[in-house]
Amino acid sequence: MSKKHMSAGETVKLNNRAFYIFYKRYPQMVLSRLISVIWNALTPYVGIYFSALVIEELAGSRDPERLKFLVLITLVTAAAIALVSALLNKWKEAHNAGLWWKVNQLLLEKLLDMDYVSRDESKTAELLSIIRQNQGGSGWGLHRVIRGYEELCSSVFTLIGGISLTVSLFVSRVPESAGAYTVLNNPLFVVLMVAVMLMITYIAPALSNKAESYWALSVNSLNFANRLYFFCENIGFNRATATDVRIYRQDKIGEKYGEDNRANTFGSKGLMARYGRGPMGLYHAAASAVSVIFTGLVYAFVCLKAWTGAFGLGAVAQYVASITKVSGGMSSMVSALGDMRNNAPFLVPIFEFLDIPNNMYQGSLTVEKRRDRKYEVEFRNVSFKYPGSDIYALRNVNMKFEIGSRLAIVGMNGSGKTTFIKLLCRLYDPTEGEILLNGIDIRKYNYAEYMMIFSIVFQDFQLFALKLGENVASQTDYDYGQVMDSLGKVGFVERLSELQDGIETYLYKDYNKNGVNISGGEAQKIAIARALYKDAPFIILDEPTAALDPIAEAEIYSKFNDVVEDRTAIFISHRLSSCKFCDEIAVFHEGAIIQQGTHASLVADENGKYYELWHAQAQYYAE
Ligand code: ADP
Repeated sequence: MSKKHMSAGETVKLNNRAFYIFYKRYPQMVLSRLISVIWNALTPYVGIYFSALVIEELAGSRDPERLKFLVLITLVTAAAIALVSALLNKWKEAHNAGLWWKVNQLLLEKLLDMDYVSRDESKTAELLSIIRQNQGGSGWGLHRVIRGYEELCSSVFTLIGGISLTVSLFVSRVPESAGAYTVLNNPLFVVLMVAVMLMITYIAPALSNKAESYWALSVNSLNFANRLYFFCENIGFNRATATDVRIYRQDKIGEKYGEDNRANTFGSKGLMARYGRGPMGLYHAAASAVSVIFTGLVYAFVCLKAWTGAFGLGAVAQYVASITKVSGGMSSMVSALGDMRNNAPFLVPIFEFLDIPNNMYQGSLTVEKRRDRKYEVEFRNVSFKYPGSDIYALRNVNMKFEIGSRLAIVGMNGSGKTTFIKLLCRLYDPTEGEILLNGIDIRKYNYAEYMMIFSIVFQDFQLFALKLGENVASQTDYDYGQVMDSLGKVGFVERLSELQDGIETYLYKDYNKNGVNISGGEAQKIAIARALYKDAPFIILDEPTAALDPIAEAEIYSKFNDVVEDRTAIFISHRLSSCKFCDEIAVFHEGAIIQQGTHASLVADENGKYYELWHAQAQYYAE
């Protein structure tokens, strides 16, 4: 990523696009923030203006009636401003909770919405990791855009207010009686003051930004170091590798990498430390020095003009206060622009991620809701190659699921069983042929609705370290009776009776000290209960029992056969014995269905693959 050579036009385009995303999704959030900063930028001038009038009166004619009036109006306006500020603040707070969460939500929605093919690509994972690193580690990214616009708005209105109250400084003339000092009336002074103001207030924040830009420059190496650091720090804490770590003491690798990383990146020899001692520190110091010079010059000009009689004391107060604010406004404008510029390159991967196209056709047909579960799915001459692969993972597959039947899909590892299921639930579209639901190509249906007809227990299912009930229902707000019913059906009742908090018990101890550890077999039962809770017309088990021995697997499968009731069930396994109870068995081999029939008919065919596999595996089963 080139951070130095992004043009101003490009910077503006990227920031505007990000701003528009926020505005479209959260208009109240954006408006409340901007209106609040504008209000806060302008209101101080009301105080400055009235105070100047009071001082002018005190230093001049000291008319008590007018003074009373001025003080009263100052108080009333101050009260009114405070009231409106409070209301604005309330409005803002109501719409501004969780900006980080909002940004994450945006990324998550995209991730869930994109084609599964893209979701699966390493480029997607890489982009997401970069985005989250930039966001978390160094604070760059989308959320920063809103702050940029806020600061920009605030500074522009500070400038407008300040300049309005300063115009008269240049217009008020030094009287002729002041002799040589009338030179101050020369319009060149206006030009000179404005030039100095522009130059110096530009230079100071520009120097600061230059210093800050070293952060941006080093972010790639910082991100990498942070990632490595996080990984190293966590080797020993990772539950999934807890046993390996003990046996091989892998934490030592982490320790060593961590040490090197700390020394080379974050320590005194690291990149940031070198920048800090060198250019970054110098730019910061120069920035502070330059601001002081400007303020000094302006004060001298104001005092000189007042001394020569161009205006009174009240005006001096007004000018000094306004110009200080104008100077602050200039700085914050330049700093806002600089920050937006520094942040812009970090928006590039975000938009690259958000712009990943959805190439799969998205239909809009609704899937009819049927109580009788009569959903008929058919594969018609389906062939499929994974993107980027030349080899067919499925070849000319024809299959019609009989409603309410039990179908087994068996075959060796790599024969295409999982691919078949991935196509069935439209994670991918067939390369050739079509899949039909009640006679209509599944592509024509609304995808979310189509997914509602499937419950799948995948091989690598995951449970959360949250409550048992939440795991079964996949939501926090669940139906107690239905969760109990699902757990009952999968034979979890006995274990459940031992759990202190019933279905409110936490699984594992990550988030609750009373959580329970569960065995692999118990986890599988819970995963199956989750599939039952969803109550979809199709239920699929894709070898979720791979870690179990063949006999235990066969037990779970045949038990499952009882609980699926009138649903259409698909059982996948490379162990033939698990599936012999099924009405129909399809044998996959190298992506094609080479045999289909009942267990009895298949095992009788001595020349078939099924016969061969059955006898090869028979030694494992107690028959
Ligand atoms: P099974 O479930 O029967 O073990 P799979 O359906 O997982 O088999 O795999 C079928 C074939 O497709 C295998 O040759 C496998 O290497 C290939 N395959 C699986 N997933 C992918 C993928 N994401 N990209 C490319 N090839 C894949």
